[in-house]
Amino acid sequence: MTTNAPPVLILLGPPGAGKGTQARMLEEQFGYVQLSTGDLLRAAVAAGTDAGKAADAVMKAGGLVSDQIVIDILRDRLAEPDCATGVILDGFPRTTVQAKALDALLVESKQRIDSVISLDVDDAAMVTRVAGRYTCASCGEGYHDTFKVPATAGVCDNCGGTDMKRRADDTVEAVGARLEAYHAQTAPLIDYYDGHGVLSRVDAMGQINDVAAALRGLIKSAVPA
Ligand code: ADP
Ligand code: ADP
Ligand code: ZN
Repeated sequence: MTTNAPPVLILLGPPGAGKGTQARMLEEQFGYVQLSTGDLLRAAVAAGTDAGKAADAVMKAGGLVSDQIVIDILRDRLAEPDCATGVILDGFPRTTVQAKALDALLVESKQRIDSVISLDVDDAAMVTRVAGRYTCASCGEGYHDTFKVPATAGVCDNCGGTDMKRRADDTVEAVGARLEAYHAQTAPLIDYYDGHGVLSRVDAMGQINDVAAALRGLIKSAVPA
């Protein structure tokens, strides 16, 4: 372990917990790169790669894409030069197999996990958050029908774009399956990382800025300046 290796932070939490929202804010604040396997998979689907073709139907149904596909995509992305400033993993790992694969990758790159933060929200809030979510197609900024509306309706605060997108899997049908996958396959990682001594939990039911303040505090104490 080297103390000046690029930091690795992980945001855990169910769909709609606020991982993407918070990761973007932390990216801006600390200069780390947000790595969202959901975004990487959606890009693979849009590009029509073999991985994207295999992932498409699984994602629409709200299931988890195979560990091998996700690990391969993440490994390639982590090797890109911009990750040298540190990364915030958003939506990875989601299974114990992925967590162990990440441990092995980090041994190779002489990095370690500085902090895993679980964003805790109750199931009802998660459904409301996912159902009202939309995103700027130009820059990826996330919004919500009720909880985060742009200053001018339909215009992105961040880039001025007007093309707002809703995700194909943010449907009532898929949300049930995604929640089930979270409880069965991802929630066990809370104990896994607790056992490694790197876990913190944050009540993510609060307002976006309050959750952000809690995360900033945790990260400042977890990552050596
Ligand atoms: P995740 O990446 O965990 O799936 P997002 O960051 O996309 O979650 O957030 C889901 C939706 O909820 C988005 O529409 C976002 O604007 C909104 N949101 C995020 N955090 C909060 C919060 N603390 N309170 C209310 N709404 C939130
Ligand atoms: P959210 O956090 O809002 O559920 P993501 O954008 O992280 O959404 O993920 C969307 C979908 O992409 C998931 O429902 C799943 O099908 C797939 N996916 C993303 N990350 C992973 C992963 N680490 N392992 C398996 N499937 C994944
Ligand atoms: Zn935008």
